[in-house]
Amino acid sequence: MNYPKLNIDCAKIYQNASQLITQLALKNVTVTPVTKIFQGHPIINQLLIDAGAKMFADSRIENIQRIKQAGFSLPAMLIRTPMLSQLSRIVKYCEISLNTEIEVIQQLSIAAKQMNTTHGIIIMVELGDLREGVMPDRVIGFIRKIITLPNITIKGIGTNLACRYGIAPDDRNMTLLSELADEVDITFGLKIDIVSAGNSASINWVLNHDGQTRINHLRIGEAIFLGSVPAEQAKIAGLQFNAITLTAEVIEAKTKPSLPWGTRGLNAFGEKETILDKGYVTQAILALGRQDVCVTGLHPPDGMKIMSSTSDHLLIEATDSALFVGQKIQFNLDYSAILSAISSRYIHKAFDGLQIKRQNNIKHIVKH
Ligand SMILES: *Cc1c(COP(=O)(O)O)cnc(C)c1O
Repeated sequence: MNYPKLNIDCAKIYQNASQLITQLALKNVTVTPVTKIFQGHPIINQLLIDAGAKMFADSRIENIQRIKQAGFSLPAMLIRTPMLSQLSRIVKYCEISLNTEIEVIQQLSIAAKQMNTTHGIIIMVELGDLREGVMPDRVIGFIRKIITLPNITIKGIGTNLACRYGIAPDDRNMTLLSELADEVDITFGLKIDIVSAGNSASINWVLNHDGQTRINHLRIGEAIFLGSVPAEQAKIAGLQFNAITLTAEVIEAKTKPSLPWGTRGLNAFGEKETILDKGYVTQAILALGRQDVCVTGLHPPDGMKIMSSTSDHLLIEATDSALFVGQKIQFNLDYSAILSAISSRYIHKAFDGLQIKRQNNIKHIVKH
């Protein structure tokens, strides 16, 4: 076994994906899984297809290209506004992209025409989180400028919330998006397919909403892979947590004083932490550091605390257990820690539970 090791429980991920796809289908909402945290790994993509995904979404063309080149034929949605410098790759590998710039759509049209294909676009609407999107009162004028472009199909409109400023989906902004869809249809004689109301942070709004709405699509990553939605929202019953864990190995375990000695300056990272004198402590060094993972997103087991980290070392203290060389310690990870761990080439990835995922069918759908 190689360490540090990231264990990925495919049965849990499969269960989360199939639960969300089924549960949201009851609300007439299609889920497009967002594969960016797994960088378009083919194992994960197959899992999502088995769970019922009909399309996948990613923020990076490299990941989408990787999936398409692995032989997957399901449609791809690029969920970051395209770079002008990548347009021909985007048209080649993506059926749909999320867009906010007229110039980009004009160039997508030219690229699609050259390649003798069509490209679908979803126009993103700014609803207050101030990341991507056309201001709501500009949407009609925006579409007027692109509607006649050849080889471009307007697939729908969408929004993204709860990313930059944590602005929550609510009746007000969701109704505005839904009404905009009607306005676009009426103004241009269209019947747009997709009204995409956001990411994992929009699941609770959809599940709790009972009235008329045009909203029929979500792009979901976090809730599938972590089983969670933003902290202040209600947890979604039935989702599995901690599908992804990180195990690292102890390379030194000693009882040492808690206070350093000698003349003290800044540490290797220009920081100076405050130190409590706790007398002697049980301290261990793990072979895991800032070069491997975003250490602030690691959660150690009960009775252990992360004290410091350097490029290659993680310092932990145990309150009530012994620590020993060769010991393997398992951490839970938050979103940032998972992102960094998956990107790290020093961390070994193990995809577990592939055989049992199909037996793990959902017994009942929990309604909100
Ligand atoms: C990352 C991303 C998502 C998925 O977000 P989660 O919080 O992981 O569900 C959806 N839409 C866009 C535009 C994104 O960048």
